[in-house]
Amino acid sequence: MKDETSIDNGGKSRHIILTSHPTGDQKPVPLKWGASSARERGPVVGTLGAGAQRNAIGAHSGSYALYRALAVASGSLSPEHIPDLTDTTPATRIGPNRQWYDAEKIVSLDPFGHTVTDSFAEHAEQGLDIRPTIAVTKARLTVPELLGEIDSGRLQPDGGILLETGEANVTKVAIEPVWYLPGVAKRFGTAEADLRRTLFEQTGGMFSELVTRPDLKVFLPPIGGITMYIFGALAAIADPARKVACRVHDECNGSDVFGSDICTCRPYLIHGIDGCIKTAQGNGVGIIVYNRKEGRALGEVTKFLVYNARKRQAGGDRADAYFERTECVAGVQDVRFQELMPDPLHWLGVTRIDRFISMSNMKYDAMVEQGIEIGERIAIPDEMIPEDAQVEMQAKKAAGYFSGEPAPAAEDLTDTRGRNLHDY
Ligand SMILES: [Zn+2]
Repeated sequence: MKDETSIDNGGKSRHIILTSHPTGDQKPVPLKWGASSARERGPVVGTLGAGAQRNAIGAHSGSYALYRALAVASGSLSPEHIPDLTDTTPATRIGPNRQWYDAEKIVSLDPFGHTVTDSFAEHAEQGLDIRPTIAVTKARLTVPELLGEIDSGRLQPDGGILLETGEANVTKVAIEPVWYLPGVAKRFGTAEADLRRTLFEQTGGMFSELVTRPDLKVFLPPIGGITMYIFGALAAIADPARKVACRVHDECNGSDVFGSDICTCRPYLIHGIDGCIKTAQGNGVGIIVYNRKEGRALGEVTKFLVYNARKRQAGGDRADAYFERTECVAGVQDVRFQELMPDPLHWLGVTRIDRFISMSNMKYDAMVEQGIEIGERIAIPDEMIPEDAQVEMQAKKAAGYFSGEPAPAAEDLTDTRGRNLHDY
């Protein structure tokens, strides 16, 4: 085991500075959220090396900050490392959009997160280490189901958006959360002080500046981020004559990646990609927003516990007891809280979604509440729903999910049964 002093710290003092006891010599870089230019807004400075100039609470990279700490602790990363950002700027231009200058439209990401090297060049010249919180690149997706869609004639390759091989070309955007605390509090209808105190307490006192530094308004939360996959031309967003399709998808590793049949996540994601491609091919744009909110943001352990409770309960897994079992284990049905969800769409400049590929009433309500107009709502086709996922689907429809059909009757819910734990 290494002695703690062996960590390379560039010769700086190894005194521990407790953020619960600010020394009073802080000089945070001014930050005016929602200001009318990037220059007036100022950079989000969350790097640890910025010391007294930091104007954000927490650390960069969301939950991965903890892995960075392990790399430093094990001696494989210098805490002094400053990234060389040569050639890392966005692969395509995004914005600026008017929503970037509205303190209430965007509260959970930094709208200038992808342009920090340009927008805040002056600060960088003065030696401030300002990190991007958004990256924009291009990718080619290989989604096996798309080949089947081409074979059956439901999708036509066009040589640009969709290739003969079934591969699709996209712009993809990775976003780390940056929370403007007064704005987040407002979305949740709570006082900023209560939000700050609860965040502090519920993380086991992880970020004491939440309560000791009310002057710092921005928090880099240690949570998963967002990825957007954009099919077609971004220019269609600003043109009312062109269509915008969108699916907002919350992570479900079991189905999305591994094909578990207990839910509709991957099939609906594929249907979303399909709809995005068709819209893009019609001179529009299709946007998949993928949020790292595993298991309704309760996490995979809770999710698997609920699966067992559902399948072992008296009477077996059935739609009428679907939400109840989650509530028994987690205390709530869902903690995804869609209030912050529209922000990446505001960032893209989206004001309307012509084809919303989602049945969630919570997502629909959040979009409308945030001033994004929704046209057609597109449900997952029945033939794409795995048999064991009927329990979830019927329960959700009964709870208010959009389906274009009347909600299932009470007896339909008791009759909708899933596989039990002995049938695997
Ligand atoms: Zn799922």
